[in-house]
Amino acid sequence: MTDKNSDISSGKNSDKKSAQHKKRMQNLKDKVDQRIDNAQEERGLLIVITGNGKGKSTSGFGTIARAVGHGLNAAVVQYIKGTWACGERALLENAGVSFDVMATGFTWNTQDKEQDIAAAQKVWQRSKELLKDTNVDVILFDELTYMLSYKYIDLDEVIHALQNRPVNQHVIITGRACHRAIIDLADTVSEVQSVKHAFDNGIKAQKGIDW
Ligand code: ATP
Ligand code: MG
Repeated sequence: MTDKNSDISSGKNSDKKSAQHKKRMQNLKDKVDQRIDNAQEERGLLIVITGNGKGKSTSGFGTIARAVGHGLNAAVVQYIKGTWACGERALLENAGVSFDVMATGFTWNTQDKEQDIAAAQKVWQRSKELLKDTNVDVILFDELTYMLSYKYIDLDEVIHALQNRPVNQHVIITGRACHRAIIDLADTVSEVQSVKHAFDNGIKAQKGIDW
């Protein structure tokens, strides 16, 4: 008898909980629907992926892959050329994505400032062309932030080019320590935080994962 009563009461409790859950979910859905209704503007976005953690460039390339999958025209400009060519290049070039890569090694390795500035400027001239091209839907400027930190490219010039780009063109900028002025101009900014990295435990950069 007692057991039966407790069964009935736990049944009632679970009905009550499920009704409460349903109500909470309905409220949440109403709020989300309202926010979706409010977001009506359509235009090109400026996205910044910065911070010290791993995942900035891969996020940028992931967005390029996503765009290409929808048939959009995409371009990649890499401001720091690593020792190894990144795996994304082989894949995305085959899919019609244009690539421009700065013709030096890691800047902190070359120790030739004049040569680095010239290389950065050359890639920046190409970047400016892309930022005027209405046929280009999405551009990834990978590691551009360092060019601004080192003052290899003029900040005002970058801001001017970004502000005057085609209205529907999306731009993604990656790299650590992004300049405040670019963050202010951006629509979406994510900071990737490092919790831990394999390299700190002596593990070598891995092909297909790190480049
Ligand atoms: P990824 O290209 O893997 O998305 P990222 O663009 O966020 O990395 P970068 O600062 O551009 O990071 O560095 C590129 C290389 O350095 C990659 O091989 C990456 O694994 C490595 N790396 C990134 N973050 C860290 C870190 N916190 N400590 C050590 N190595 C890192
Ligand atoms: Mg990177």
